[in-house]
Amino acid sequence: AKEDEPNSYHFYDNEMEQSIVRRLNMISDLKHAIEHDQFELFYQPKVHLASNTIVGAEALIRWHKDGSLIPPNEFIPVAEESGLINEIGKWVIETACKECAKWQKIGMKGLTVAVNLSPVQFKRGNLPTHIFRALQKYNLDPNLLELEITESLFIDNADHVKQQIHIMAEKGINFAIDDFGTGYSNLNYLTTFNASTLKIDMSFVRHMLNNPQQQHIVNAIIKMSRVMDLENVAEGVEDEQTAQELLAKGCVYGQGYFWSPPVPSDKFLRLLKQYANA
Ligand code: C2E
Ligand code: CA
Ligand code: CA
Ligand code: CA
Repeated sequence: AKEDEPNSYHFYDNEMEQSIVRRLNMISDLKHAIEHDQFELFYQPKVHLASNTIVGAEALIRWHKDGSLIPPNEFIPVAEESGLINEIGKWVIETACKECAKWQKIGMKGLTVAVNLSPVQFKRGNLPTHIFRALQKYNLDPNLLELEITESLFIDNADHVKQQIHIMAEKGINFAIDDFGTGYSNLNYLTTFNASTLKIDMSFVRHMLNNPQQQHIVNAIIKMSRVMDLENVAEGVEDEQTAQELLAKGCVYGQGYFWSPPVPSDKFLRLLKQYANA
């Protein structure tokens, strides 16, 4: 906005006002959604590349709002800013544990579930308590739960974050670094806490067959995971050739549209049975 154009100020104010109003509306819609059970978890299979078997699933949240399905990228940021992610996150953990316990009961023994965590969920310090409570409630082995965190969690090197991760890892809960390769460049954090898995970001994977640079990055991450004795998962595998190339490079697990997009729990069960009978 320029000073000699008073109208441009007005325009700017209106834009700001509108975006604030939109955010406030979304906050109140999210509160309503929490109270009225408008969330659902979808599940995307995690596949063992060498055997083409499903070994687990990542839980991904969806919001049913007025008949349409809102993707997480459109509301998680607002949930984070407003703190509502704490409540939503608790529901996600509960629901994912419940579902994973169900898989064990129907004979899908050892099938893991992965839950995405926001850095905001570590602020209050009671995350381990909530997670232990959910595991206990559904009698779920902590080793079947994987928590996906991003490198951004380690930017300020907070001791209370490491402490909470340590408490949970001691019980057998596994930690995966999501979107690996896109964030924080100092990898020191990997040596100071017990991650079990690196998830190679899909921006390196999706088009890697046509892009030597991306292949080099994928190679480097796979090598690094092996040297550090971490598991690796490639995200965003959309075709068979990419899956085969990843396997040849030493990648162990994959996720992506090639096998399945995230699907509702009943559809995921059908997928499991299909793979089990194949
Ligand atoms: P993410 O954890 O990196 O999840 C992977 C995203 O990639 C998912 O989008 C998934 O649907 C999509 N995807 C999977 N395979 C493919 C593929 O082959 N090709 C392409 N193009 N995309 C693929 P989604 O479900 O829309 O989730 C977006 C992000 O929202 C997630 O990224 C995660 O950061 C966040 N999120 C989702 N659920 C939760 C949750 O329960 N809690 C929190 N805190 N964040 C969540
Ligand atoms: Ca994830
Ligand atoms: Ca474990
Ligand atoms: Ca990811």
